[in-house]
Amino acid sequence: MDDKYTCYCGLYCENCAVMAKIKPAAKTLYKEMKKAGFEEIVQFIPGGDGFWPFLKDMAEKGTCISCKDGSGNPRCAVRACAKEKGVTMCALCDSYPCGHFDAFFEGYPMLKQDNQLLREKGMDAWAALQDERRAKGFSYTG
Ligand code: SF4
Ligand code: SF4
Repeated sequence: MDDKYTCYCGLYCENCAVMAKIKPAAKTLYKEMKKAGFEEIVQFIPGGDGFWPFLKDMAEKGTCISCKDGSGNPRCAVRACAKEKGVTMCALCDSYPCGHFDAFFEGYPMLKQDNQLLREKGMDAWAALQDERRAKGFSYTG
């Protein structure tokens, strides 16, 4: 588990589909297209000039740098609140679960148990769960 990927809300970036599924897919697509000679003909394909560097970037750097470094919804109220309060993860906040989590739990039901685990058993148990999921190829959106 890498600290920089722990999101305020309790999600873990490396288990998000953007990192767990899309980045590897971009890598494969880039590699296969390059092997097939796309780089040599890209200039003759409308839109290719924008697409190719974009795909290369996705394959090499990924599309997301982590919630704490600025990826994710730029208007996320949870992040804004946690930063203002100086809270590293909402599960550790005195006001948890606050109203911001009502909609959140509908979209990510497992977040309720995950954050409960963090509150009751601490960071090591939470991190072990994230690592275990990652090793199995898990992503929040399937
Ligand atoms: S931007 Fe908000 S919703 Fe997205 S991972 Fe960060 S805290 Fe969670
Ligand atoms: S009040 Fe606490 S739990 Fe709610 S969003 Fe802000 S930091 Fe997170």
